This record gives sequence, C-alpha cells and structure tokens, in this order.
Amino acid sequence: VPESSNSLQAYAKDKLSDQMLELFEACQQQTSDLARKETCRTRLQKDIQSIYAVARLYLTGSSMNGLGCRSSDADLCLVLKGNNRPDPINVLTVLQRLFKSLSYVERTQLIRAKVPILRFREKGSDLEFDLNINNTVGIRNTFLLRSYAYADLRIRPMILVVKKWARHNQINDASKGTLSSYTLVLMVLHYLQTLKEPVLPSLQRDYPECFYALLDIDMVPEGPKHVPPYISTNQSCLGELLLGFLKYYATDFRWDKQVISVREAKALPKNNSKEWRNKYICVEEPFEKNNVARAVHEKIKFDAIKATFAESCRILQDRKDLNSILPVRAII
Ligand code: ATP
Ligand code: MG
Repeated sequence: VPESSNSLQAYAKDKLSDQMLELFEACQQQTSDLARKETCRTRLQKDIQSIYAVARLYLTGSSMNGLGCRSSDADLCLVLKGNNRPDPINVLTVLQRLFKSLSYVERTQLIRAKVPILRFREKGSDLEFDLNINNTVGIRNTFLLRSYAYADLRIRPMILVVKKWARHNQINDASKGTLSSYTLVLMVLHYLQTLKEPVLPSLQRDYPECFYALLDIDMVPEGPKHVPPYISTNQSCLGELLLGFLKYYATDFRWDKQVISVREAKALPKNNSKEWRNKYICVEEPFEKNNVARAVHEKIKFDAIKATFAESCRILQDRKDLNSILPVRAII
C-alpha cells in the first residue's frame, strides 16, 4: 500500500474518488525524483559559487510544494544577496556561458520573459530546469503552497487531478494565454477555503509569523514545519470536491466582479485599479497582491477556459467517472 493512501481511503469510497486517488498514486512525484533534482541543485550551486561566492540556489515550484508529478520540471531560484540588485539578464548570460562548460548540463536557453529564466536539461535525461534570479516571491509562495498541500490529506490528490485535467484540455499553458499551474492551484485553494464548511483556512491569517512577507529568505522553508493539519468539519470525498470545484467556476463564480484572494480566504470585489481593470481573470498573488492570471488576455482563451469548466461539469454530473473528462489510462 502506498505510504500516503492509508487514511485517504476514507475519502475514496466511491468510484470517482477512487479513480482520483489511483491517478494521484500513479503520478505524484516520488522520493527518488526529488532526490535527483536535489543532487543536481547541489552540484549547480557549487559550480555557480565559483563565480558568485555567496549565491544560494533554492528548489521551488511543484518539486518542493507537494504538488508535483513525476513529469514536473524543476524550478530554481538563485538568490544573490547584496545592496546593488544585479540585472537578471546579465547574470543569466554569465550562467549560460558557465553551464555550457558543465558536463552534466545541456540545451541551455535564455528566455527573456517578465521574469527572465535560463532553461536547461540534465544531460541525457528528460529532467528540465527553469532558473530565475532573485525572484524570491517564488520561494515564499512555494512554502505557503506546501503548507496548504499538507494541511489536509485531500489537497494533493485534488490538485494533481485538476492539473492533469487542465493540461488534457489545453487550458494549462500561460505562454499560450491560458492558466499557469500556479494560477490553477490558487483557484483550487480558493474553492476549498470558501465552501460553507471550509476544507482550508487562510494560513497567512492564522500563522502570520510563518508567512510574514519580509521574513528572512533563509527562514522561509521552516514555515510549514510550524503549521499543523487543519481540522475541517467538511468530510466530503474527493469526487464531491472535484465536482464542486467544476461547478463553482462553471456557475457560481462571478469572473467580471470578483478577485480570488487565497490570502484572505474569500472573493474580493473587483475594484477599478490597474491590476484588475479589463482583466478576464483576477487571481491575487498571496504576497505581492498582483494578478497571477494576467496571461489570460484574449477573450477567445477566456471563453475556452469557461467552456471547459462548463462542459466537464455537465459531463461529470451525469457520469461520475473520471474517464469521461480525463483518459486516466492514457495519462498513467
Ligand atoms: P508544474 O508542476 O506544472 O511545473 P508548478 O507548481 O511548478 O507546476 P508553475 O506555474 O510552473 O507551477 O510555477 C512554478 C513556481 O513559480 C510556482 O510554484 C510559484 O512559486 C512561482 N510562480 C509562478 N507564477 C508566479 C506568479 N505569477 N507570481 C509569483 N510566483 C509565481
Ligand atoms: Mg514547475
């Protein structure tokens, strides 16, 4: 029996829930996957320190937040402390030259996005890395998400299934104007926080000392160690939560009037500020309070996202079978 599934079985007594649990057990990141990423991180940090002596490299994103799949990439943040903030593009250019000389790295590629990244692979494997410079909010929100992921046993399977569903339906690619994984995760957490009987609280409200936005970055990974499991009165099974999630965004959520705030565990009214005005989807970054869903800027993509929620909700309500919205066998 897989280690995490023992008490989860209590939430998987119907077919749909059981299928969700099966998909989760088959796809979740394994200890060995994380160990491989960690080995690479250590090696890279050591090589980077030959140029930037005090640099520290952090593993972030789904590799660290408890919401990763076996196939997830590894997100890295290089923290360069000091008074004069270096230009990320300059640092990444230096690193690109260094990485081309490393025997265990291949296919380095500099991506000039809003947060510039160096993308590369571990030589001879399909393990992909995205490295940014000093985007430390990614470290903070990784450990916030990790605390949510482990606050209740249902969170990790629920989010993994939603990510697989969104990817299958081609609405999980911010570079193509749809939802980033990060946005999707916040959308699931928001749904679970705003149920009549919540499955999750606001951890930033309940544990401000763990998620204080100016906490020294070295202390951030300690946060989740101080957050106990949340005791919810909601005992819904996984399948009910998945159906409820689809239904919430298909019918209840007011895209034109509401902003998703995981920080406050509620939907905030959309005001006329530049951050929210004329935006199709508004999801607040829990620390920086900007819109993480700004990639959705075309009406046609927004409509496709809403249509996917509506269609999957309708199908799943009739046939409580995960295969009706996601071909489980093809994914495992
Ligand atoms: P996947 O398993 O699909 O790789 P992921 O959890 O790594 O999913 P991404 O959307 O790739 O999610 O984002 C990686 C990390 O980058 C997030 O966990 C978060 O820490 C950070 N991040 C992504 N988008 C934003 C954003 N708009 N603002 C702040 N941090 C972000
Ligand atoms: Mg990732």
